[in-house]
Order: sequence, then structure tokens, then C-alpha cells
Amino acid sequence: MSDLLERLRGRGWRLTSQRRVVAEVLDGEHVHLTADEVHARAAARLPEISRATVYNTLGELVTLGEVLEVATDGRAKRYDPNAHRAHQHLVCSGCGAIRDVHPHGDPLAALPAAERFGFAVTTAEVTYRGLCPDCRDRGHRDGRDGRRT
Ligand SMILES: [Zn+2]
Ligand SMILES: [Zn+2]
Repeated sequence: MSDLLERLRGRGWRLTSQRRVVAEVLDGEHVHLTADEVHARAAARLPEISRATVYNTLGELVTLGEVLEVATDGRAKRYDPNAHRAHQHLVCSGCGAIRDVHPHGDPLAALPAAERFGFAVTTAEVTYRGLCPDCRDRGHRDGRDGRRT
């Protein structure tokens, strides 16, 4: 059973078939889809769903605080249903895959008072970057073939 759907039901969010499909597409672990990806997957289940409906629904979910907007490296914004457990992101510099990660310690606490310049600091985002296993394998294969594609 979908955690995001459960949460939305619990809040009494009116679940039309279109909103439900958007919520179903976003449900799961390590989900970080662009709006276009959400639309493509939603349209596979509900062909009549429009891009505008998907965008509006995503906006509402963000406003409700049930979905987070994640910006990575100037690529398209991504939508993350893991809105209630503080986490950071591990991003593959090869293919852009994103995992939710939970480093030890509070990243906010890692910033000393002297480095806060008088700001009332409320959130911190940490992005870990590297190559995912698939991209590392590809690198090794391409290395053997002598050419990267
Ligand atoms: Zn990768
Ligand atoms: Zn995430």
C-alpha cells in the first residue's frame, strides 16, 4: 500500500482518478521524477491526463508538504515523495540517478556559529556525488574497449 496515497487520504485530499494516478506514479522509495517523467508514466495509465493537470497536481502536493522539489545541477526539478523523513541525496554524475541517503549527524549542526554570518539557519541540503554501480561498470567496459560512448 502506498505511503503517499495513505498520507493524502489521511489528510482528506480529494482523490480524483487523475490525482490518484499522479500520486501512484510518485509512490515508492528513491523516487525522484521530473514533471515530464511523471506525466509520461501517468499518461501510460490514464491516457487522457494532461500535462497541465500533472503540473498543477505536483504544485498542490508540494504546497501540502507531501512532496519535495529537488533541484540538482540545473537539470529539471525532480519530485520526491519522501517528504517526512529528513534525508540527503546521492547523485550519479554519469546518469543522474538519485538515492535518498541518511548521513550520520545533523548537517545543520555541522555549520559552526562563526560560519553562519548572523543567519537564522533552518535547513541544510547536502548532495553527495559520484558514479553509480551501472556507470562504474560501463566505465570499466568502455575502458577495455578503449572508447567511451
Ligand atoms: Zn549512473
Ligand atoms: Zn529524496
